[in-house]
Amino acid sequence: MYDLLLKGGRVIDPSRGIDDRLDVAVKDGKIEKVAQGIAPSEAREALDVSGKIVAPGLVDVHTHIYHPGRNWNHPDVAGVRSGVTTIADAGGPGSADFEDFCEYVLPKAKTTVYSFLSVFRDRSLGAPPSEDQMDVDGVVEIARNNPDLVKGVKVIVAPRTVQNLGLKHVEASKRAAREGGVRLMMHIGDIGPRSQTPTPSEVTAQALAMLDPGDLVTHVFTPLTGAALDEEGQLLLALVEAQDRGVYIDTSYGDFNFGWDRADTVLAQGLRPDTIATDIEIHAGDGMRKLSERGLLEYASYFLAMGFSVADVVRMTTATPSAYLGIEGEAGSLREGRTADISVLDVIEGRWHLADATGKTRMGTQALAPVVTIKGGKVVHPGEPPHAWGWTPPAAVEVAAAGDGS
Ligand SMILES: [Zn+2]
Repeated sequence: MYDLLLKGGRVIDPSRGIDDRLDVAVKDGKIEKVAQGIAPSEAREALDVSGKIVAPGLVDVHTHIYHPGRNWNHPDVAGVRSGVTTIADAGGPGSADFEDFCEYVLPKAKTTVYSFLSVFRDRSLGAPPSEDQMDVDGVVEIARNNPDLVKGVKVIVAPRTVQNLGLKHVEASKRAAREGGVRLMMHIGDIGPRSQTPTPSEVTAQALAMLDPGDLVTHVFTPLTGAALDEEGQLLLALVEAQDRGVYIDTSYGDFNFGWDRADTVLAQGLRPDTIATDIEIHAGDGMRKLSERGLLEYASYFLAMGFSVADVVRMTTATPSAYLGIEGEAGSLREGRTADISVLDVIEGRWHLADATGKTRMGTQALAPVVTIKGGKVVHPGEPPHAWGWTPPAAVEVAAAGDGS
């Protein structure tokens, strides 16, 4: 007898090249069988998911669920309450508040949470980043002592740090990651005026050259300076070289880091991103996401509008981010025997108004929304949706009615 049966969905499992109408049976928290024609009578609970997508539990490698000193965030808002089973906090705690992160975030989370540490000791101080706040040894020790939790070091190549430190914090973060045996995640974009010397793109290229195979660069679709394109609009060679040597290319949106024109140009020049992630911030205090920010599925709808297939999007939110986190043996797959982390999704046809950070919008015809999430074999229903109307982006008709006909 199975504990749970997902009956009749379109199973997309890029880790095994599966895209077919199949049933998925769960027992003792594990995926027991993926096959056609499993009878509902063989399971204690059967869910009819015909017409839905059944994917490995989604993985968001770039979230912010920990704000030092303000720890009332609920990590599951970025996770299982939004159809996502695994998330990584990108650089919330440093060595001084890692324990605080563990105490306040981890006991609450049904979602699997991983940590990327900041090389800066304590970011709650709010002081400009300086060399004496960097703690390579502390990060290395924490990473070595917590290999199941700490998967990387997050570094930001942005004005406040570059002005004060050049790329010293990148060198320190890389050293901490290599000695700690974990990956580096590098934020690019917004590193100052185009006329500075060296130019923003030269600074970014220098930073990208420091990434090793298995590291990741995030925000390649940001319309800000110092990102994927140089001052003449050409794709940075350093980015192409990075991907060629095995650096993952991520597309997180956050508040500012997606522009339609930029995405078009980057894609037209031949760069194919590897992962979709959110850079979502969960508000301290009320446990809600910022309304300006999209959850993983809403942002994934943008990729459907860019011409990526549903199967591409599933791969970019399951198998590939799992490989980046080094958890591909545990997550991102519906292989029999794995922990039963499963995301059941809806593809909703419509006319969706997809806004970028520059005020441009594009019409999408398909939106993705969570239906139900299985976490460790347990059924979790979606929480409060991000918008008054639900999980989809705004419908074009509602936006037109509000007076913005673009
Ligand atoms: Zn971020």
